[in-house]
Formats: sequence, structure tokens, C-alpha cells
Amino acid sequence: MKLSFIFAHPDDESLSAGGTIAKYASSGHQVSTLCLSSDKVRKNEYFNAVKVLGIQNFEIYDFDDVLTHENEIKEKLIQYILRTKPEVIITHLEDDYHIDHRSTYKIVREGVEWAAHETQNENPHLVSKLYTSETTVLIPNPHTLVDISKYYSKKEEAIKCYKSQLYKGGEDFYIRFHKYRTLMRGTQASTQYAEAYLQIPLKRNSPFYKQKHSEL
Ligand SMILES: [Zn+2]
Repeated sequence: MKLSFIFAHPDDESLSAGGTIAKYASSGHQVSTLCLSSDKVRKNEYFNAVKVLGIQNFEIYDFDDVLTHENEIKEKLIQYILRTKPEVIITHLEDDYHIDHRSTYKIVREGVEWAAHETQNENPHLVSKLYTSETTVLIPNPHTLVDISKYYSKKEEAIKCYKSQLYKGGEDFYIRFHKYRTLMRGTQASTQYAEAYLQIPLKRNSPFYKQKHSEL
């Protein structure tokens, strides 16, 4: 399976889905990560974190934020989807507290839509599944709980790569928050640690899609 994890800032991938990324990357799936903005310090921390998570295919853009570069980023993202052809995309929550995260959700939704249009692209690509994930906002009723018990240590190691961010929310905030969040999700999932996802339904009836039918 080809999975692409697309987030706003360096560290969002590790905080939101680090265990899932490490799990799928080590289980023979083709996993890639894309980060839509960065600065010099966080870019280097991102390189270290994705290495810890076992990712070979990663990209990071040099935009200083997502919101004020939405159109440029959307164009790049459409090309990214057409080039990498992910079956599954994981991104931020639609109603996340952070404006760049909400902007990322919007760009990804629109990018997925435009990449599928045969009127726009010679070789359109229709993503099969879109999931949103928890960064620091919790999903009330998750659709999927991924067991990351064997990969929790990788997730924490990746979070610790972000030395410039670790103490932003107060001492140990990130480590404690994500430890107890994944333990809580693990409890719900009858395992030790888990990460939660919400599936976003994608329409299939566009007259501009090459493939308009699918199985249940
Ligand atoms: Zn972020």
C-alpha cells in the first residue's frame, strides 16, 4: 500500500502519526511524508525525525507558513499527488486549533479533488482513502485505532528530535501529552499504545473522474 502523511510543520508527523508511520514503513508498505512549511532549524530536526521513523521518501517545502501560501502550496501538492500516486493520505483535522493545520486540511482536500480530474491532468490520480489525525486536538469518535505498541519508542524518539519545539508548551508538555494520549487510545483499542484516525468520505460521482465506480 502507498501511504502519504502530509502535515503543516516539522514535528506534526511525529506527534500525530509517528507510531503509525514507523509501523507501516517497517511492514513493507511504501510510506512517504510531506511537510508543507519549515525553517532552517526545524528542517534539520525533520530530517532526523523521519530517519528515526524509517522513512526514505520525504519532502519538505521552504514556505514560512501554510496559510499565506495556500495557492502555491496547492499547486505543488497536486503535482506531488500526481507524481507519487498515494492510495491513502493522512493529514490534519478539519477543525484543528491551529490555523496552518486547518489550512493544510483544506489544501489536501482540494488537492485530492483536482488531482483526480481528467480535464486537468493527462494522468489523473484518484486517492482511495483520506484520514485525519490527532495532533493536540482529540477526535471525539475515531473510526480507526492503529496499534502502535511496538513502535511507541520510535515515536517518542522522533518527537525528541525536535529540540527547538519540545519545551514550547511548557516543560515536558509534548512528551507527556502524546504518551498519555496514545495510552488512552491504546486502552480504547485493548492494546498498550494506539493512534486514532477519522476517515473523511471522498465522493466518487464526479463527471471529471476517470473511474466513477467502485466496490463496497
Ligand atoms: Zn503544526
